[in-house]
Amino acid sequence: MFATGQAPVQKSVTILGSTGSIGVSTLAVLALHPQRFRVFALTAWQRVEALREQCLRFQPRYAVMVDASAAERLRQSLHEAECPTVVLSGRQALEQVAADPEADYVMAAIVGAAGLLPSLAAARAGKRVLLANKEALVMSGQLFMQAVREHGAELLPIDSEHNAIFQCLPGGQFAAGVERILLTASGGPFRTWSRERMEQATPRQALAHPNWSMGPKISIDSATLMNKGLEVIEACWLFSLPPAKIEVVVHPQSTIHSMVAYNDGSVLAQMGNPDMRTPIAHALGWPERMASGVAALDLIATARLDFEAPDLARFPCLRLAYEAHARGGYATIALNAANEVAVAAFLNQEIPFMVIPQLIQDVMEWADAGTPDQLEDIIIQDEASRKAASCWINNKKMQ
Ligand code: NAD
Ligand code: MG
Repeated sequence: MFATGQAPVQKSVTILGSTGSIGVSTLAVLALHPQRFRVFALTAWQRVEALREQCLRFQPRYAVMVDASAAERLRQSLHEAECPTVVLSGRQALEQVAADPEADYVMAAIVGAAGLLPSLAAARAGKRVLLANKEALVMSGQLFMQAVREHGAELLPIDSEHNAIFQCLPGGQFAAGVERILLTASGGPFRTWSRERMEQATPRQALAHPNWSMGPKISIDSATLMNKGLEVIEACWLFSLPPAKIEVVVHPQSTIHSMVAYNDGSVLAQMGNPDMRTPIAHALGWPERMASGVAALDLIATARLDFEAPDLARFPCLRLAYEAHARGGYATIALNAANEVAVAAFLNQEIPFMVIPQLIQDVMEWADAGTPDQLEDIIIQDEASRKAASCWINNKKMQ
């Protein structure tokens, strides 16, 4: 809070993965509040044109392109446009801009395991971490939460379900009287499809999410319900909950983003249009509220809210995620790595849709029991699982 007439302290924001779906939504929210926020660093994998446009508009101190030749092209192009942004390249540069003393907030919106090291660097530097990159927690939940505690970081969930749960818990923390979390799932594009039809599903059909517009990896995860599985694990770490306290409820309208049930019979829900600018604005402004640009919810137009149980026979990925979490960290790293390889292979039309869970199950079975407490062991397990998944696919092709 600040006295009348006094300007709020401007916060500097690094966006890891600024050219992606979450990155673009974050910039849209920041653009509404130029007095409150300034863009410190933007990062992307290799889309030069998209990052160039963002740099020209938001004039960040740094821009990182992981790919070196893309970085050179961006540097040249920004120089010609007389944009003062300094262009860095390489993975190390992601960690550098995430941990820079001048960055106050870090939006962790890189997709997949590639986001782990820079997200962890932000936590270790004691930042406010706005976490969209759920894979980081699935891979390293114990280590990540420990880093948050030890370095005084503030961890705010961006995933709409976790952001909703955070809003429905007193002070965003698990508390006495909480009976269970009701984690809602849209059910994805194949909610009503038969198993036979799902076996023939094409990447285009799987990418067509009914309610949310998102990057390709999370869209496929939503079609297999692996996204919900990863979110169960994410919720366990964020809110120190055992998985038995988390119930997945399919809610096709995606109006309720999740709920918290208390022991007096109360159930608190957070509702809104399915638009990621709401959780992004919540986490940027917290503990205050600020405008996100999202249209007001029209309940009359929504008309109905439906709920159903998930079908684990057609969506085995959700079951696999519960199993992996019960087995420990090595298994959740294997689950995540095999899933990333399987999703890429499906999008490349190398494996059919229903082979995704088979591949993940087999790779997961090779993982050791227990949980790694060193970052090196996490990375070794991730790499070994990716290799195992690629071999599995090659063997399958030769059969
Ligand atoms: P996306 O594919 O649209 O964007 C990913 C971003 O990461 C891009 O900027 C890309 O350049 C960058 N990137 C990709 N690979 C990289 C690599 N190897 N190294 C460095 N940067 C790399 O993804 P998205 O949909 O915005 O999702 C980002 C994260 O947020 C994911 O973890 C996803 O699960 C989570 N999330 C997304 C949504 C959503 O609505 N899109 C909702 C909840 C959670
Ligand atoms: Mg989500």
